Amino acid sequence: MSEFDAIVVGGGPAGSSSAIKRASSGLNVLLVERSDPPGSKNVSGGILWGKDLSAIVPDWEKNAPLERYITAKGTGFLTTDSMISIDFRSKKLEASKTGYSVLRAKLDQFLANKAKSSGATLVTGVTVDKLAFDGDRVIGVQQDGDTITSDVVILAEGANPRVAIDSGVRKPIDDQDIAIGIKQVIRLPESTINERFNLRGNQGFAGEYVLGFLQGTVKAGAFMYTNKDTISLGIVVNMSGLRENNSTYSFNIMEQFASHPFIQPYIEGGKVEEYSAHLVCEGGINSVPKLSGNGYMIAGDSAGLTFSNGLVIQGMNYAISSGIAAAETAIAAKAKNNYSSDFLSSYDTNLSANYVLKDMNTFRGIENVTWSNLMHKAVPGIAENVLFRMFNETGQPKEHLSSILMDSIRESKYSKSDLIIEAYRALRRL
Ligand SMILES: Cc1cc2nc3c(=O)[nH]c(=O)nc-3n(C[C@H](O)[C@H](O)[C@H](O)COP(=O)(O)OP(=O)(O)OC[C@H]3O[C@@H](n4cnc5c(N)ncnc54)[C@H](O)[C@@H]3O)c2cc1C
Repeated sequence: MSEFDAIVVGGGPAGSSSAIKRASSGLNVLLVERSDPPGSKNVSGGILWGKDLSAIVPDWEKNAPLERYITAKGTGFLTTDSMISIDFRSKKLEASKTGYSVLRAKLDQFLANKAKSSGATLVTGVTVDKLAFDGDRVIGVQQDGDTITSDVVILAEGANPRVAIDSGVRKPIDDQDIAIGIKQVIRLPESTINERFNLRGNQGFAGEYVLGFLQGTVKAGAFMYTNKDTISLGIVVNMSGLRENNSTYSFNIMEQFASHPFIQPYIEGGKVEEYSAHLVCEGGINSVPKLSGNGYMIAGDSAGLTFSNGLVIQGMNYAISSGIAAAETAIAAKAKNNYSSDFLSSYDTNLSANYVLKDMNTFRGIENVTWSNLMHKAVPGIAENVLFRMFNETGQPKEHLSSILMDSIRESKYSKSDLIIEAYRALRRL
């Protein structure tokens, strides 16, 4: 007889959501988190698209530590001299209240404590070493030479899933499937943030940009999100580009972004209170491993379940949704007393029924757009050139937009046909 019905490795959004769902159904759950308190090692941009939470924490919009709700979205490109962006502000976005800025140190503690108050045993400051096996069946986890047994284990250990890899239930992660994120949290008075971003009360802004000023094959995206009285500023850098350009350091890219002439005014006078780095899953569906096996399931970033298209990163919602789906499968497994690989594979079916695997499949290959030369090297320069020539009054006869565009493409060193092909591919995948 096992000590626990279920053990969850990792108290991030995937693990805590899974533990809340299972513990609320009366299962005897152990949630093991290496950091103390939960969340102290975690990083997100972070906008929480939290609708899934309603299923396990109905009052989350009232009681969770949410910073601001997103009413304004910015998206675009930065070149050395320019910012080219679309600023979308909408009463409709405001009314739908789907996205909230959050700080993980607060959110993760809130969710882990919810798991505890739902009946889960929460252990913090403990790092699980490996899965424990009886033959090919997972029977629990190993920690510091001890084995703790459970009927099923949910691996929710994040983007660097050492337990899953070291235990042989998923393959190591390839360079091209991972990026490095760096983030600063910068304190400013609430009124200053509202003034600079043209916000009122608890309205929030979320901006994502392609950094078109980077040299060589280095590619990165960046984000700027408003919290109540802080700004989250960060970058996400493609790992293989970094490796190819070994004199470029990610922290320098962070500095270039923060000191960009059209970003710096937003954070001027602010105090950097946090500086953190974390891996980001970028591999899309091709990097998603087998999600379940004999006695175990894998959820959230551990399974590569993150959606990123260069302009937006969504991972917390996929983590929450997959954590809940894993819990539902574990509850059904308990009812049937069947933890076999066959039975637990219904977890994949559950994930296919909601948006998680649907999105991953619909956007198959999106990573080729996210990190394409078109997005990072061609479009920013062409867009800057076209807009500059359109808006710069020279006192000379004006030109048609089409001829400015053709000139700009010629100057970009990309052939018109290559650009059309890449743009068509991008449109199909976005
Ligand atoms: C810079 C950056 C910006 C992002 N922006 C956004 C955003 O705006 N919106 C969004 O939705 N997503 C965003 N993401 C992605 C999002 O953070 C992840 O998808 C999400 O955190 C995944 O949740 P998770 O629970 O699967 O993993 P994690 O949040 O990484 O949690 C894993 C937990 O497991 C613990 N752990 C790991 N190993 C062990 C072990 N051996 N034993 C015990 N505990 C262990 C860790 O301490 C951690 O608490 C961003 C990510 C980064 C890095």
